[in-house]
Amino acid sequence: MLGTMQDRPLTLVHFFERAERYFADKEIVTGTPAGTERTTYGEWADRTRRLGSALDRLGISADGRVATFAWNTARHLELYFAAPCSGRVLHTLNIRLFPEQVTYIVNHAEDEVVFVDRSLLGLLAPLVPTFTSVRYLVVMEDAGPGHELPTFDGVEVLEYEALVADGPPAEFRVDDEWRAASMCYTSGTTGNPKGVVYTHRSTYLHTLAMLFADSVGVTEQDVVMPVVPMFHANAWGLAHAGVATGASLVLPGPDLSPGALVDLIEAERVTVAAGVPTIWMGVLDELGGRDVSSLRAIPCGGSAVPKALSEAYRAATGMPILQAWGMTETSPIASVAVVRSGLAGRSEDELADLRACQGPAVLGVDLRIVDQATGEPAPWDGESRGELQAAGPWITATYYDDERSAESFTDDGWLRTGDVAVMTPEGYVRIVDRTKDVVKSGGEWISSVELENEIMAHPKVAEAAVIGVPHPKWSERPLACVVVRPGETLTKDEVLEFLDGRIARWWTPDDVVFIDEVPKTSVGKFSKKDLRDRFADHVLPTA
Ligand code: ADP
Repeated sequence: MLGTMQDRPLTLVHFFERAERYFADKEIVTGTPAGTERTTYGEWADRTRRLGSALDRLGISADGRVATFAWNTARHLELYFAAPCSGRVLHTLNIRLFPEQVTYIVNHAEDEVVFVDRSLLGLLAPLVPTFTSVRYLVVMEDAGPGHELPTFDGVEVLEYEALVADGPPAEFRVDDEWRAASMCYTSGTTGNPKGVVYTHRSTYLHTLAMLFADSVGVTEQDVVMPVVPMFHANAWGLAHAGVATGASLVLPGPDLSPGALVDLIEAERVTVAAGVPTIWMGVLDELGGRDVSSLRAIPCGGSAVPKALSEAYRAATGMPILQAWGMTETSPIASVAVVRSGLAGRSEDELADLRACQGPAVLGVDLRIVDQATGEPAPWDGESRGELQAAGPWITATYYDDERSAESFTDDGWLRTGDVAVMTPEGYVRIVDRTKDVVKSGGEWISSVELENEIMAHPKVAEAAVIGVPHPKWSERPLACVVVRPGETLTKDEVLEFLDGRIARWWTPDDVVFIDEVPKTSVGKFSKKDLRDRFADHVLPTA
């Protein structure tokens, strides 16, 4: 028997029209070097429709890829909807990738047009001659008046505001929810980045997951500030969640310095601010004497949130960090470390441990851990480790046109995440490590994530990353790379003494090196690959 319900596609056009109709007066604020720029969903919707017709006028194909190379701004949000709601595919380019990788993904995705912020043109312009499918470059002026448009052979250069002004408002209609809405490439620590293509349906459902009260719970009442770039896994769904609910959006633009972010939180009374741990490590030192009482959630993921960091926020603001886990491949939200009612009575320290987990799967996503030796599901006992695998309607089923896909999916269609995790009996995921970052010592594994967590609990430590370095007897042993807080001094012995009793003795790093800064990846994570390269020849002291 079939149901009696209407067959209405789940598309972004619904979110768009809702914001236009219900929330026309709600604000979108963008940080710029000249101060904040304010617009409303009403004006945004009008401009987005004009942009849609401009794409038609330029002759961008019916499912043409529309690339962006841009900061988090209201204009970027116009592109976020004009491309998919006119049937095209938004392709957000990571502005911090290596140049060869940008060239690779633009050509692999066959982008037809690239929208670029003027302040980022210096990065992109040298690459334009390497693009094989791009016909237009559209410059979004964000660096004041008085700039000329550049010229390129075979690529027409246009100015964004002129393009929008010339377009009559487009009618948006997408009939097929399975149509591609956007695409994003993983930042690819090894090899070329891999592409993931989101459908209208997957984005729609993922957006709803951001609204569940048992995840981030975005509502119309919120003032949402995605510090996470709009090119990093769909800004974790927060830009879409803003439009869908009518929550005010605060888009920080190019200045992501701690001071600028706290200024925005204070001035705009931000309630939800999301970013990777390194962002919140920086912001922590800015909080003294500031009023961030408007905040109700600080979603954070991309890499493990150190317990010490979350607890420092609890001390400073009364509110710990809300950890989430996900990947470009999972849209990204797959788990959120909310504290369940039955666990809320635990001691503060136990709760802090729980929040240092990546949390239970959000409604809609299935997670499992699989023993890598046997290929069998591992028990949820808080101890057994396995590869974390994910399935669900906003988890990718393959990579876009990529022969490396096969190795990343199981025979029964689950995504192999490349993360090693344990599951607590209550179903909380605890990421032990990325498979490639685990320190393999004498056939046993040492979790670099857990070691870093413990080292970063030292009050004099600003950042710490642990890598495995070659060892003649044990194959690998841990090396701790530590950044000391400004104005403090710290010795190797002090670090090791601090760890004594906090970790299994055989986990103790064989050496501690002090560095000025942990190198970061293009999305602000600790770059273990750079550290491994740097310390490849490091000679460990013999015991
Ligand atoms: P990239 O693979 O290019 O770094 P992603 O942002 O898609 O880009 O990275 C996904 C990976 O980030 C996950 O597989 C996991 O290793 C890590 N990650 C994300 N969130 C967390 C978290 N809360 N705790 C630990 N690791 C995380």
